[in-house]
Amino acid sequence: MKTARNLDNMPPYLFAQIDKKRAALEAQGVDVISLGIGDPDMPTPPHIVDAMVAAVRNPANHQYPDYAGSKAYRTAAAGWMQRRFGVEACPEREVLALIGSKEGIAHIHTAFVNPGDYVLAPSIGYPVYSGGATLMHAHTHFLPMRADDGWLARLDDVPSDVLARARILFLGYPNNPTGAVATPAYFDEAIAYCRKHGLLLVHDNAYSEIGFDGYRAPSILERPGAKEVCIEMFSLSKSYNMTGWRIGFAVGNETAVQALGTIKNNLDSGQFTAVQDAAIVALESSQQCVSDMCALYQRRRDLVLEALKAIGVDCVIPKATIYVWARVPEGLTSAEFAEKVLTEAHVIVTPGSGYGPDGEGFMRISLTTPDDRLLEAVRRIKETLG
Ligand SMILES: *Cc1c(COP(=O)(O)O)cnc(C)c1O
Repeated sequence: MKTARNLDNMPPYLFAQIDKKRAALEAQGVDVISLGIGDPDMPTPPHIVDAMVAAVRNPANHQYPDYAGSKAYRTAAAGWMQRRFGVEACPEREVLALIGSKEGIAHIHTAFVNPGDYVLAPSIGYPVYSGGATLMHAHTHFLPMRADDGWLARLDDVPSDVLARARILFLGYPNNPTGAVATPAYFDEAIAYCRKHGLLLVHDNAYSEIGFDGYRAPSILERPGAKEVCIEMFSLSKSYNMTGWRIGFAVGNETAVQALGTIKNNLDSGQFTAVQDAAIVALESSQQCVSDMCALYQRRRDLVLEALKAIGVDCVIPKATIYVWARVPEGLTSAEFAEKVLTEAHVIVTPGSGYGPDGEGFMRISLTTPDDRLLEAVRRIKETLG
């Protein structure tokens, strides 16, 4: 039996080294605290769970779902876009239910990328942007990202032969892992760039709802002309503590939404309608649960920033996401510092180099650890490294 070349081309798992070390420590009975995982620790709000329980009991939901998502769910998604961002979208033609936004991000390549083509992706970022290209026998050109530019991926330096074969530009702000947010001017620049070069702009807005100090992230579709070139991927995962439920939606340019829909028609049979019913309740009920969660993450963010300060690490205070992105102390690589924190404080932080070459010299700390464990991790870091 011979597997496809694709499998050999998938990148190796970059955090394998840390996992090995963690396993060895835990085998010795050491209590390791992970600040490495980007998965909310709080349960899904009870009103959403209750809606799901009721929806599961509805026999109409036991049959094959609508491929594109139920009309009710797409209408709710469009209504939420309107209330939240003032963006109009036709539920029939410009909205598509996703089985989590990762699914949409991974499949958009199939609709737009031919073998040998290029996608443009930030040099620090969500691995699926480039992974999806690899699975299409296509290439990824990484756009430089630097602290000096506020981690806004640079568009001005793509070689012309790459640009000629490029099909998609991926962006995602608020950004995982840097916590950076985009300016309206940057979105406008990206939209103009995609219009000029005939690219689809895929905007990954997984963290739109997690903002701090009054910051509320925009949709790229708020920008003039955006719908001519943009599809935006939304996720209920981080917004409503629903990572396990697998529900999101794509919205924007009709051609892109329909093309992705065609691919999905051939690959999956849609998300369980009961999950969509529960997601409607999440989108249409009071958003107090979202504000409460932001307050919780903001408090945790401040605890982490304080601990980092105590060990001499300064960083930009993130306005959004569930991550703190910080420079590692002078003289150590990301991987060396992560190893030191693990060995000496028994705490896992993620080396920035794992997200791409421009992440070297940085680390990502996730705010999704329960308060008591986070406090303990912060205490250990201060005591052993301070
Ligand atoms: C978590 C995450 C997603 C995927 O979310 P799902 O809707 O759960 O698939 C997409 N993009 C980024 C940057 C993420 O961090």
